Formats: sequence, C-alpha cells, structure tokens
Amino acid sequence: MMMNEYQLETIKRRLSTIKKDSPFYGKKFADVDLSEVVDQEGFEKLPFTDKADLRDCYPLGLAAVPEKDIVRIHSSSGTTGTPVIIPYTQNDIDDWSIMFERCYRMAGLTEYDRIQITPGYGLWTAGIGFQSGSERLGAMTLPMGPGNTEKQIQFMTDFHSTALCATSSYALLLSEEIKKRGIKDKLALRKGIIGSERWGDKMRNRIASDLGVKLYDIYGLTEIYGPGIGISCDYANGIHLWDDYIYFEIVDPKTGKNLPDGEVGELVITTLLKEGAPLIRYRTHDLTRIIPGNCPCGSRFPRIDIITGRTDDMVKVKGVNMFPAQFEEVLSETDGPESEYQVMIDHLDGKDILTLYFETMVPDSEWEELEKEVQERFKAKVGATIKPKAVNMGDLPRSEKKTSRIFDNRY
Ligand code: ZN
Repeated sequence: MMMNEYQLETIKRRLSTIKKDSPFYGKKFADVDLSEVVDQEGFEKLPFTDKADLRDCYPLGLAAVPEKDIVRIHSSSGTTGTPVIIPYTQNDIDDWSIMFERCYRMAGLTEYDRIQITPGYGLWTAGIGFQSGSERLGAMTLPMGPGNTEKQIQFMTDFHSTALCATSSYALLLSEEIKKRGIKDKLALRKGIIGSERWGDKMRNRIASDLGVKLYDIYGLTEIYGPGIGISCDYANGIHLWDDYIYFEIVDPKTGKNLPDGEVGELVITTLLKEGAPLIRYRTHDLTRIIPGNCPCGSRFPRIDIITGRTDDMVKVKGVNMFPAQFEEVLSETDGPESEYQVMIDHLDGKDILTLYFETMVPDSEWEELEKEVQERFKAKVGATIKPKAVNMGDLPRSEKKTSRIFDNRY
C-alpha cells in the first residue's frame, strides 16, 4: 500500500527529533542517518522494533517525553516475565479515545446506547479503553469488568444494555447462559464488540444468534494504544484501521521484506502521533493481509483481514507461507476429517514434503478418496501440494497444554 503524503510528512517530522527525545531510539538508530528517510522506500529500510526491545526498556526507558508529561502507564504482559511498560501523555489518552469513539460509531452506536464493558481493568489496556471511548461517544457506560456472570446478566436485563463489549470466549459463555435461561427476549442487546482473538465462523454465528446481536471485531494491542485502532464494519469483510494515527505494513516474517497487498504476512505498525512511547516499525507478530480495494460501506479507511494467526505458527514450504488456520479451514470445510490434525514437514531427496495427518471416523476403504479431496481443496486455497494422510480417531497425540501441531523436521 502507498504511504500517503500526510503519513510521510508526519513520519519525517517524528523521525527528525526521535533520537533526541527517546533514549531507546537514540540507541537503536545510532548508526542510521534519519534525515535520509525521505520516502516510503527509505522508511522500509529502517530496522524493526520488536517486543523484546521494549522489555529491555523496563521500567520507563521507552518514554520519549519528560516525566512530568506522562499521565498514565499501561503494561502488556509478556510470556517471559518482565512486563512491557508503555507511558502515555494526555494527548495519547485523548487520541486513543477518539479512535475508540470512531470504532463505536462504525458499529452504529450513538449516545443513546448503553454499553456494557466486560474486559478487564487495570494495567491492561482493555477495560479503560472501552470505557473512555464509550464516554466520549456519550453513551451510558456500564464498567462491569470481567466475570460475575450473574451480575452481568442482571445488569444487562435491568439497564437494557444495547451493546456488549467482551472477548469472544466470554461472549460465548454469556450467550450460552442467556440461551439456557431463555431470556433473550428480555434483553435489549443489538451489538457485540468483540476483542480480536482468533475465533471461527461457527463460534461467531452461535454467539450472534444466541444473543441476537450483530458482531464487530475490534483490533488493537497495548504497545500501540490498546484495543480500538481498528474495527470491522457492517459488511464484516475485514478490519478498518485508523491510518491517520497509525501507519501499517505487511512484511514477510521470515525475510522482513514488504509484501504486496493481498498477501498474508506479519502486520507491522508505526505510530504517527504517539508522544509517550512512539514506535517505529513495530512487529505485532499477528498474521493478516491488506484487503485491496474499497469497502462497500464507503469508509475511506483501509482494511486488513481478520487476524489469522501468529507468526510463530507460520511455516514456509516450497516457497509458500502456511499457517494453522489454513489447515483447520480446509479440514473443517471437508466432510470426513475430525478436528485433530498434525503437520510434519520433511526434506527428502532435495524436496520439501508436507504431510498433513488428520483423524477421521470414515471407514478406511474411503480414506484414499478423502485424502485426495483434502489435497485438492488445500491446493485450491493455498496454492501448494501437500500429502494428506487419514488416521483413526485417537491416533494423534493429545495434550492438555496448547502445543504446536506443526513439526518442522527440515533443520
Ligand atoms: Zn467497511
């Protein structure tokens, strides 16, 4: 996607003082002459910023303003212990709520709505982001926080909440409870704003119908404001991102090279206006693609696809990038395979071979045909030829923990 003039000018202005403002970028760009970044091509040569870099900045090493200008911190938990701390100025907080208000408006909400917020509050950005956006919109805000399903349902009923903000898993839990009690008719819910975890169409449709709402995917990450930097629209065909606050790119996670629109890769974000902790070319590790063309909703904001996975799960075989969601999709679209699968990648006689083991209950006399069908569907969808192998139910290892189903034996 082309960087527009506003983005280029804003980035150039940001870069002109970033070494002086931010000790972190002073060090990172020590050997880079930022005045040479005059166009998109030059920008794409700048080194990436990764989460590990931010962790090394603990506690306040990311700050790019004097301490007196920091009004709040948020933190994203890492898997490795040391938290990442993001300092915010008042302008950052305001910008975040402006973006969040836009999200609500994109979902058709107004000051007449009553917004029930179930994501968590605290160092984590979720709850408070949903709240400040709702207040800025002028809606009645119910800052419930997570859990206590009994009270959630009571407030939802008594206060006629019209919108529910939740993670997909909590929305599912609430929808099941509401269905069980048969109280859907007592509710005034019409919209669900769902934090963008990875979730399948089956789950989405179930929540939508059990709650009687239209669902919207909201996107964001704590390092870049928090949730609210983009949301899907009525057409549910991708997530519009607010590209006047962030500049985004899709790169090949293995090579770091920018990819053409439409190709799946890693989402990389640059903040345009953030003061407290500006980030240049931040690797989100989220896999998605830019959706080319205009959205029928008429919004001028560009779209990315629903997040399809994390870069850590991706493998490259025969020059084609593949990730778990694609295997899951093909198996679930085909009659016969069950949900358990395992992928083995080997290098034999100078060639990469990808074997997709899947469990099935159909008699083994039909396996050959089933394997062929999976192979054809995968080829049509992803563009690579794989070797599907049917196995009996229970033949693949089970694990309590979320373990990788992809085993790369090439290296
Ligand atoms: Zn749209």
